[in-house]
Amino acid sequence: MDDYLLRVWSREAGVRGLICLTTNLVNEGVRRHQALPTAAAALGRALTGGALIGGLLKVAQRVAVKFEGNGPLKKMIVESDSNGVVRGYVQEPLVDLPQTAQGHDVVGAIGVAGLLTVVKDVGLRDLPQSVIPLATSTIDGDLTAYLEQSEQITSMVQVGSIVDETGYTTIAGGILLQAMPPRGADVVQLLRECLQEMPPIEVMLASGQTPEQVAKQLFGELAYVELEKRPLIFQCSCSRARSEKALLSLGRAEIELLLEEGEAVIDCHFCHERYVFDRDDLEILLGEMSD
Ligand SMILES: [Zn+2]
Repeated sequence: MDDYLLRVWSREAGVRGLICLTTNLVNEGVRRHQALPTAAAALGRALTGGALIGGLLKVAQRVAVKFEGNGPLKKMIVESDSNGVVRGYVQEPLVDLPQTAQGHDVVGAIGVAGLLTVVKDVGLRDLPQSVIPLATSTIDGDLTAYLEQSEQITSMVQVGSIVDETGYTTIAGGILLQAMPPRGADVVQLLRECLQEMPPIEVMLASGQTPEQVAKQLFGELAYVELEKRPLIFQCSCSRARSEKALLSLGRAEIELLLEEGEAVIDCHFCHERYVFDRDDLEILLGEMSD
């Protein structure tokens, strides 16, 4: 099944819900970064969390979320936008720790001390930025803390994935609930308790339940409407043209140096796409420079 994010809204309860299936985009990220199982589990949660936070944005807005702890993964950065486009990377993808009773040791990989930084691009000149200490290093607990502390809205985030011994993610998804002020806070608390009684999101999705069915089960008697079903995709904004611009910005002397070395390779952090500029390409670039 293709990845998507379902947005639901209960006017009666004053609660909005986002439920997403992210298996394909997570695997795309894991494959591009060749992440080992623990790193893959962490990146999968982060990409899913990023997709959920992106689902809260208004049209043409973007958000970047950085998890930076004292564990071996060092940091993960995920970006998403209001169109369901997500990209992200983990600085040290070759992290694989022994499993704990809870499964992959994402907390150990991220580290318990660190910061969560959220930068929103809402079309203003200054980008609003929130920095808070990592609350749980589980990704979802950290995102819940961000929404509650920085945005001051009663919220609940749950993300999860099932990762096999090769790092392949068999299922990934998440839930985000948010009270719409002034109402909803009590209901979000109630739904949070309901969720604790239900299997984790990845188990529900793995059993074949769709986000629509998860919403139905979660909201139970509460009336709600399905507002939108938005496709989600892992896609990077890098391109050869952008890499050319980056090279040009280095200046003539630097490009001449690269030319002597024989080639320039620009490796995108976010998607690992490699843009190779050989001698001919570099000479053309030098020719394009005005001076
Ligand atoms: Zn890229």
